[in-house]
Amino acid sequence: MGMFDTFWGKYKCPSCGHTVQFEEQTKRYECILEDFYLGDYVDRGNRNYFYDFEHECPVCHTNNEIYIAIRRGQYVGVYVGRESSEMEITKLENIEDGYARRRAYEHICERKLGYDNPIKADDGPMDQKHVGDHITALKTQWEILEVYKEVLDDDVLNSGRFIRSFYEDNYIYRVISGEDRRIIAVRKHDFTHEIRTKVSMDDLSSELRTKYVGSEEGDMFVMQSDCKLVKIE
Ligand SMILES: [Zn+2]
Repeated sequence: MGMFDTFWGKYKCPSCGHTVQFEEQTKRYECILEDFYLGDYVDRGNRNYFYDFEHECPVCHTNNEIYIAIRRGQYVGVYVGRESSEMEITKLENIEDGYARRRAYEHICERKLGYDNPIKADDGPMDQKHVGDHITALKTQWEILEVYKEVLDDDVLNSGRFIRSFYEDNYIYRVISGEDRRIIAVRKHDFTHEIRTKVSMDDLSSELRTKYVGSEEGDMFVMQSDCKLVKIE
């Protein structure tokens, strides 16, 4: 299978002046589907160089020559065409480790929507919280109003299909904090024992939005595949 890693970033198009985002798949590194954002360390060799590629501006369709600056192995900047030829890479400073990831996390916390950082847990069942308890997610403390659980449909359980092994233990909480109402899904990965917490809009009408856990689904609550939602409190 053709694997790759991906550079994510943005630059100002010199032709039309719009700030545009890019997604550049590369096979130059370990090809383990890693995502590289500004501030990430991409190259364990501690080297200095520009990674260059062409990117078509989605606004004006100009083909731009993009240069990603790698300084001591860290993705430190994005330069376009001629401005990069005037750069001396060893003059660039290293920047905060994980710069763009931290900014993205701050943004998620401000909106109170999205995935919190995963937590490593032990083997064994998850702790259930109850109505009236508090739960912290995305730096906000929430009060629990209702408690649900995603449970596998009976016909899936009876069929013994392969999909069962993807099922993640979980609790789904309807919560409130001040004026904000949300759904918080706390799910534990069966193999890694990692606990992932997702905060989404207060809407459980998810019958039509079932997907595999971990896939991209925006701000909405999306139920695990082959499950039904059962209210337990
Ligand atoms: Zn453009």
